[in-house]
Amino acid sequence: MPETSDPAEASVHPATLAITAGRAHSGSSLAPALWASSVWQSADMRDARRRATGVRSGEFYGRYANPTVASFEEAVSVLEGAEASLAFASGMGAISTIVLALCGQGSHIVAQRQLYSATLAFLQGPCARFGIEVTFVDGTAPGAFAAAVQPGRTMLAIAETPSNPLLELVDLDELGALRGPITLVDSTFATPLGQQPLAHGVHLSLHSATKGIAGHNDATLGVVSGERDLLDEIWGYHVLHGATPSPFDALNALRGIRTLAVRTNHQAASALHLAHSLQGHPAVTAVHYPGLATHPQHHLAIRQMRHFGTVFAIELAGGAAAAERLLGRVGLLRVATSLGGPETLVCHPRTTTHASLTDEEAAEQGVSGGLLRISVGLEDTTDLLADLLRALSAAD
Ligand SMILES: *Cc1c(COP(=O)(O)O)cnc(C)c1O
Repeated sequence: MPETSDPAEASVHPATLAITAGRAHSGSSLAPALWASSVWQSADMRDARRRATGVRSGEFYGRYANPTVASFEEAVSVLEGAEASLAFASGMGAISTIVLALCGQGSHIVAQRQLYSATLAFLQGPCARFGIEVTFVDGTAPGAFAAAVQPGRTMLAIAETPSNPLLELVDLDELGALRGPITLVDSTFATPLGQQPLAHGVHLSLHSATKGIAGHNDATLGVVSGERDLLDEIWGYHVLHGATPSPFDALNALRGIRTLAVRTNHQAASALHLAHSLQGHPAVTAVHYPGLATHPQHHLAIRQMRHFGTVFAIELAGGAAAAERLLGRVGLLRVATSLGGPETLVCHPRTTTHASLTDEEAAEQGVSGGLLRISVGLEDTTDLLADLLRALSAAD
């Protein structure tokens, strides 16, 4: 059972919930118990039938459910304010399973153009191959999703906010008011403590828990939260699709949730300080971070976010050549693509995550050769700024 039913939990703050939630399957152990089992034993034929035919049946077979994974799912439900959650082997496992669970040949999806590159590739490649049509819209434009909905045919509306890599936002109230399709928000960049899409009327809130939730670069995991009936329906396909989460990764992610509030508070404060400090630097033409007053959607960020996230992006005056010089000079910052972990990472989207785009597509998405995405870790902020300024002095 989700722990949202506990009245004591309704009155405390998210940071406290991150400590109290997801303890139902660990007995009196303070650390989560690791249930490595892929199979459970039945008492008799009747019991075996009950386990085999139950919805989200626990203690039957690993692909159906697992108690360690269930503990992680329950903790995410509490933080998202959801009835239920469902975990997957990765963020992409979650996205592909949901699309294939809810759509079929002839279905239509509205998705924003500003999407994580693998999500975009999935919607453009396999979806087209399976006869699922996707209309891409500018997620920052008011009314864009609604204008693209085809009544009776649009099954899903997919948004990502803040988006990768430019930290653009989608108005969650507007998305929640959309009528017709099931609405899905990839909320990875906000973490469950940064925003609550379900509170705005959105149906499904999704995370790559590989990132900030697990938070230590030691788990590959996805999770989606929403109403129980809808998640039960997705689960019915999930057991066939088989993007089953590892119990060990769920354990690491649940441990990550215990420190999520202190980590993201530090990282978001650091990100704001660094983003602010780099504004106006002669080698930097733009700084993208929703917490900056200069961000075109700063007021929307204040309205729908509790913190502004742990990632920001900069654009260098010297373009790709300057980016290459900077990546060669950073010391404390590490060159890597992920986000949400303890180490501060810098990546060059145009040659990594967005390498497969044509120049035209890259220009349309604003992914220039001089763009760098920075995931802020847990190091001291002044040390990070010193490293960045030293590396930047070679970038112009
Ligand atoms: C990483 C990421 C994904 C994909 O998650 P995986 O766990 O790598 O499969 C999806 N959306 C966003 C915004 C991400 O950052």
